[in-house]
Amino acid sequence: MTNFPEIVQEPQFSGSTSPDPAQSLIDSHGRVITDLRVSVTDRCNYKCVYCRTGQVGAQYDELTTEQYLRLIRNFVDLGIEKVRLTGGEPLLRRDLIEMVRELATWRIPAGPNAGQKLDIAITTNGHLLEDLAQPLKDAGLSRVTVSMDAVEQETFERVTRVPGSFPAVVRGIRAAQQAGLGPVKVNCVLLRGFNDDQIEGFGHLARREGIIVRFIEFMPLEEGRLWNLDMVVPVKEIVDRLSTVFPLKPLAPNAASETARRYGFTDGLGEIGIIAPVTQAFCGACSRIRLTSDGKIRTCLFSHREHDIYALLRLGASDHELRAFILQAVEKKEARHHIGEPGFLKPSRSMVHIGG
Ligand code: SAM
Repeated sequence: MTNFPEIVQEPQFSGSTSPDPAQSLIDSHGRVITDLRVSVTDRCNYKCVYCRTGQVGAQYDELTTEQYLRLIRNFVDLGIEKVRLTGGEPLLRRDLIEMVRELATWRIPAGPNAGQKLDIAITTNGHLLEDLAQPLKDAGLSRVTVSMDAVEQETFERVTRVPGSFPAVVRGIRAAQQAGLGPVKVNCVLLRGFNDDQIEGFGHLARREGIIVRFIEFMPLEEGRLWNLDMVVPVKEIVDRLSTVFPLKPLAPNAASETARRYGFTDGLGEIGIIAPVTQAFCGACSRIRLTSDGKIRTCLFSHREHDIYALLRLGASDHELRAFILQAVEKKEARHHIGEPGFLKPSRSMVHIGG
């Protein structure tokens, strides 16, 4: 498996499209794009074995809050309704609360949800959440997802490679629940031989703590070379093993574009989600695009093409021109990924540098 040099779409001042505010973002496969994931930094305070090689520090520049807000405003004007702030580790960004506070005042400008508040979520490793949960809630954050790859300290810290990380994250989750950011979602990336012995423990956690636990299949997006299909734990095995904790039943999706298959325990206590981008890809219903911390639009995690909207911003583009650029990028969104197929090439950036 080789990394692939990416094509960067250089900025052009295009007059070909006429982007009105509130125009829907629809790609050439007919998918409506409503979700924007914004990486606010590619720095991270964890060195998770399946993500990082262990070197610390940012690799890419970061936009200023003002630049992020200007770009996000144009995405929202075109139809984005949900913004998820991620990274790297988003809580490392000092002005995060300020950014959330501003975003929380915005309304969806048009469409069936016109007038409703923008949905603002954060994905975090939770290490700094104990102190930040309440200020984030007060600033207007809607939801938080915490990544947590084990329910036992030893396994957890073998994954994060940071001593003391487990109690910090547990305190962070509790603080989020107390701040009213619940139900907190916990995401666990399962890797055969690393943490697949934690499945049943997560089942108990979901039932005990009222946390929605979601298992995510490991994708070939790590900095090093670890991924192979044998490391991916298939959905059926997860469901079978959770059923030994308590019988499970499938739940209806919350939305057509929802990535997780939902399950509830039959006594009504606890919810589980399984996100299976490798074995049961959901590209046909994908509603997401991404903005990297250095201002590139990525239309798929596995894109080999990036769209340099930051360069356009720096050239002094108008909002009209930024929106035309966004529309052009979205139109080129890939039909699907090709993980596991012969000739599959990893993108040149890894998850931590794209924004998970
Ligand atoms: N630092 C934040 C966190 O830990 O949630 C946000 C960024 S992190 C890259 C976002 C999510 O991507 C985490 O849940 C992480 O476990 C997941 N992730 C990282 N590398 C992955 C991979 N190769 N396959 C699947 N998920 C991955």
